[in-house]
Amino acid sequence: MSAIAENLHRVQARIQAVCQANDRDPAGVRLLAVSKTFGAEAVRQAHAAGQTAFGENYIQEGVDKILALQDLPLEWHCIGPIQSNKTRLVAAHFDWVHSVDRLKTAERLSAQRPPELAPLQICIQVNIDGGDNKSGVLPGEALALAQAVAALPRLQLRGIMTIPEPYEDPEHTRAVHAQAHALWLQLKSQGLNLDTLSMGMTADLEAAVQEGSTMVRVGTAIFGRR
Ligand SMILES: *Cc1c(COP(=O)(O)O)cnc(C)c1O
Repeated sequence: MSAIAENLHRVQARIQAVCQANDRDPAGVRLLAVSKTFGAEAVRQAHAAGQTAFGENYIQEGVDKILALQDLPLEWHCIGPIQSNKTRLVAAHFDWVHSVDRLKTAERLSAQRPPELAPLQICIQVNIDGGDNKSGVLPGEALALAQAVAALPRLQLRGIMTIPEPYEDPEHTRAVHAQAHALWLQLKSQGLNLDTLSMGMTADLEAAVQEGSTMVRVGTAIFGRR
């Protein structure tokens, strides 16, 4: 078995264990394998081990991999910042975008999504712990952006994505994830039809699943250190 396959199984076991300990159905937690900085061959190995959903941060690098792997039935998620001059590439090649934090980006993605493709699946990125210099809308701005995105024709709003600071204290990490979960529930209570809470990475996937994450984005634990 390849090292990547072994790592994948270990991550799946982590998800299973935390779901079991917290009375959650593991089917309710999707694993997104974050392949940024690793080559197409690493993605092939992960696919051979059963992984189908991959996340990329850097648009051009992601598109190069998507084109090199067109023979495989993969689902590609853009999880990095998107400059205006990159929206066309994203709209043409990715299936999901987790990092929408401005209406202008969403409008461009909707206008540029090729008509023959399914709607682009969208998460609003929320700066849940309010760090300076961080991408994402502040929690108080999430509802207005989510409602505007939900109204765009070629996008399908699925939920929110967060990247909390790496805190030393796991209880603090959990508390921040709980805030994201509460915001997600609040948006749903406003009539938005959301099924995705994208939160949790290699270091904090347990805390994220404990607090209701439906999609964890894991890079290092699968592909190794960058
Ligand atoms: C790199 C990255 C990840 C994966 O982080 P790891 O700590 O390697 O698991 C997840 N989400 C985003 C947005 C990232 O940029």
